Amino acid sequence: MKASEIRSKWIEFFASKGHKIEPSASLVPHNDPSLLWINAGMAPLKPYFDGREKPENPRLANSQKCIRTNDIENVGKTRRHHTFFEMLGNFSIGDYFKEETVTWAWEFLTSKEWIGFDPERLSVTVYPEDEEAFKLWNEKVGLPAERIIKLDENFWDIGEGPCGPCTEIFYDRGEAYGNDMSDPEMYPGGENERYLEVWNLVFSQFNHNKDGSYTPLPNKNIDTGAGLERFASILQNVDSNFDTDLFQPMIQRTAALAGVKYNDSVEIDVALKVIADHIRTVAFAVGDGVLPSNEGRGYVIRRLLRRAVRYGKVLGLDRPFLYELTTTVGEVMGMYYPEVVDKQEFIAKVIKTEEERFHETLTDGLAILADISGTAKSEGRTVISGPEAFKLYDTYGFPFDLTEDYAAEHGLTVDREGFDASMQKQRELGRAGRQENESMKVQGGPLADLEVKSEFVGYTDLLTEAKVV
Ligand code: ATP
Ligand code: MG
Ligand code: MG
Ligand code: MG
Repeated sequence: MKASEIRSKWIEFFASKGHKIEPSASLVPHNDPSLLWINAGMAPLKPYFDGREKPENPRLANSQKCIRTNDIENVGKTRRHHTFFEMLGNFSIGDYFKEETVTWAWEFLTSKEWIGFDPERLSVTVYPEDEEAFKLWNEKVGLPAERIIKLDENFWDIGEGPCGPCTEIFYDRGEAYGNDMSDPEMYPGGENERYLEVWNLVFSQFNHNKDGSYTPLPNKNIDTGAGLERFASILQNVDSNFDTDLFQPMIQRTAALAGVKYNDSVEIDVALKVIADHIRTVAFAVGDGVLPSNEGRGYVIRRLLRRAVRYGKVLGLDRPFLYELTTTVGEVMGMYYPEVVDKQEFIAKVIKTEEERFHETLTDGLAILADISGTAKSEGRTVISGPEAFKLYDTYGFPFDLTEDYAAEHGLTVDREGFDASMQKQRELGRAGRQENESMKVQGGPLADLEVKSEFVGYTDLLTEAKVV
């Protein structure tokens, strides 16, 4: 079953259960300074969940574009994580509750009319105190008790506000993906590749009060999210999300551009997967109006793009090539997200310009490095100092690990501790600068980005440390 068919079935199924279908919102949150990106199907619907707005129809469903940069390290390593993915969701705003949610989920997953998973392969996790959910799975659906696992972490709570237990659904990919049952992680919900989490059903039934107590909500809500790419990997009977029709066109195109083959070596495959992942994220973000820059969302996009360029180097691609993939993204995704087709030329132009800039950065950086290493050698040093490496990184955008590689090739080392110390100093300066702007933060609007900026430090670290080349 094609991914586009799965998406259509989802929409058709929930429409048949009286849901209004919401189009995907932009990746850029609207009026929500707490979020950098829309990262779940429920995120753009928050005003309904917290009662600020009343929906026309209390039953909603969608297929929502999401970005989760916290999963970046997982991309290409696990079979199931992306920085950009589509979350299929159904929602009830004070309307139906647990029984309908659970029985509809089961019907959609197992009925031949819908996506028809083998019910024997499904298991679920529940919150230990949520006896109602346990009973629904066990008695109403008929799932044997040993396939209903109680997990303390199945409670969705982000501090003050609505919260509640959740129940998650897992698909057993079979023994080939793990058969060591003595591994403490080898259960649904554990860190393993065998039990694939496909769907999370959240029962928002309490309010987490200021004083830390929990009281039942007068209006209970349902928030669910399922990964389209994961459904596709199961229904297309392939090894990972990257082997589905959502990713293969980009992977094959990149492989052709580079003259390499997919499925030949782990190193090449990881590079192809990361590139396919990042080009979707960057193309969609640019399509939603985010431009590469040195702060906020633009900085995330710049970093992802540069990361993809560097993985391109692993494949021997030393010239701009990512922009060429934007037509493929349009072909794969344009049916449901016309923006990536309508704005394709613009997206390609932005990406190409940024790629060219980064190649210049790399060329300039190498020239500066040649100077630095010349100086070091003439002074009888074998170490590139922390401040030297940091200046390259901070002023010229030259990645630290490339400096290290260059040094190694020239019989030098780099003072990593000194580099970290310079980074730390820079961060403290940045923090002090931001405090002066504290009063501006509450004004919201574009200034709310100041808030966002402070979140990036971790992400910068992540990418600095990610060993790419
Ligand atoms: P995982 O444990 O696999 O990281 P999660 O528990 O973080 O997933 P949820 O926050 O429960 O995910 O999101 C709901 C659903 O969205 C998941 O069940 C999964 O199908 C999908 N999903 C979540 N994160 C990703 C991702 N990075 N890439 C692809 N799909 C995802
Ligand atoms: Mg996760
Ligand atoms: Mg999970
Ligand atoms: Mg989950």
